[in-house]
Amino acid sequence: MNRKTLDNLSSILQSNPERISSSDAPKQLLDTKYISKKPIPKSHRCPICGGEATLYGLEDSDKEFRLVCLDSQGHETTVSEKDLIRYEIELSPLLNDLANTANITATGEIAELLPEFAAQRTEKDLLICLIGPAKNYRNAVQSAVTYIVEKRVPAIVITPRESVEELHDLIESYAVAGIILPLTLNTFSEEDYVKELVKALTAEHEYKKELFDEQGIGKEDIRWKLEDHPSLIKSKLSTLRTLRENSINEQAGIGRTIWTEFEKVCKAAFAYLDFELEVGQGGVDNEGSEVADAVIGYPTMKIPDRVEISRLHGIVDAKSASKADFDSEAVSKQLDYFDEIKGNKLYHSFTKLHLFVVFDFDADKMLDWYETAKLHYPDGTGMVVLTAEALRSMVDLNQSLLTLSAVNRGAVDRRHVFRYFFDPQLYTRPEFADIADMPDLFRWNATESNTQSRYGAEDELLIVTQKMVLDWVNRSRSREHGTDPIFRVDSSD
Ligand SMILES: [Zn+2]
Repeated sequence: MNRKTLDNLSSILQSNPERISSSDAPKQLLDTKYISKKPIPKSHRCPICGGEATLYGLEDSDKEFRLVCLDSQGHETTVSEKDLIRYEIELSPLLNDLANTANITATGEIAELLPEFAAQRTEKDLLICLIGPAKNYRNAVQSAVTYIVEKRVPAIVITPRESVEELHDLIESYAVAGIILPLTLNTFSEEDYVKELVKALTAEHEYKKELFDEQGIGKEDIRWKLEDHPSLIKSKLSTLRTLRENSINEQAGIGRTIWTEFEKVCKAAFAYLDFELEVGQGGVDNEGSEVADAVIGYPTMKIPDRVEISRLHGIVDAKSASKADFDSEAVSKQLDYFDEIKGNKLYHSFTKLHLFVVFDFDADKMLDWYETAKLHYPDGTGMVVLTAEALRSMVDLNQSLLTLSAVNRGAVDRRHVFRYFFDPQLYTRPEFADIADMPDLFRWNATESNTQSRYGAEDELLIVTQKMVLDWVNRSRSREHGTDPIFRVDSSD
């Protein structure tokens, strides 16, 4: 693309105009398809008092107009067409040409979220995102990154500024730097350079796509979409707790925001860990009728030389309160649900799970509550209290295991690595003997001396800590995966 045109566009986008006037619009730019004249509006502001004013044509001139104030009589001015004309950036041809320069084809509608940004999808599943003339650059970039994270595709983010440095810093803090290519608008005058960078970005994406295709995971599968965001899930799981602690003394609204966010992050984490999310069954997406924050499933596991491990059906309650409260109204709804499925044949052979993801909890209260809850559970229901740190580590380790499975494809089935922590019965198996130390419940605010033994007596209740997860993976990885049946892929699967 023409360097001069790009320079002009950059300066217009940087000057934060409310509207682009004739004096703002460089002559060379007016001759391009990137900018267009807007029709002159009827309604105006009176230049004297700021009140509403109406425009009237003059009989003897089509270049000048009479502006009459509606608020004060006598406020009447003559304005020229030149002062009234406004221009607008034409996003469609601009984004199209930016895409073409990058050797990709723009497709579909433009998401116009100006003045912050505009985004367009391209045929290679890549987003082109142009930062607009918003007064607050930082906010504009943040909105764009949030949009990209939601779309879960790689993106080129184009800034009208002269350098990408600030853009880079802002993106980096979002932990999605790996799928975002920041470029200045001016860079698009160097076509070969842009093509090369974009090719590298899409090649990575294509490579991952191949990996997923091999595993038979379709493009619409949420696992595919979330693949690029384990870092984001991890950082969210860490920062939400801090936010929660900071907001305790603030208004209730923040608590709700954190709750919905925590719930979404937990869902993303489970999807990333290869759980099936039962869409439309719970959570903020389904307000009013929700039983739980999420309903998760996990297919039957076939481990060679062993019995089959049955399908998992779990109800997730993401407790974002700094200390999880186990006797709230929402939780009793979940118990009603367990009562309901008790007689349902469909669930007979399933392993049922009541899962709580927590930042912190009171061990005594949790045990009191469990004693009531288990009366509602159908046979074969386990309750797991998973700490946010443990979930974070699962996501983290899953990331490195993915790398491992990519290298050693076929020999390792990483999908089953964490399944054991979601079933207290499985966790008592011999392979866990040396890592199944009981967590010290005094860490979880236990005050009664018998709390530890009460917990020890419950076979279908499991508290999963970060240490348990780390120990398990360390131990598993230090073995030869090829000979450990837990990691072997069953050929009939
Ligand atoms: Zn006036």
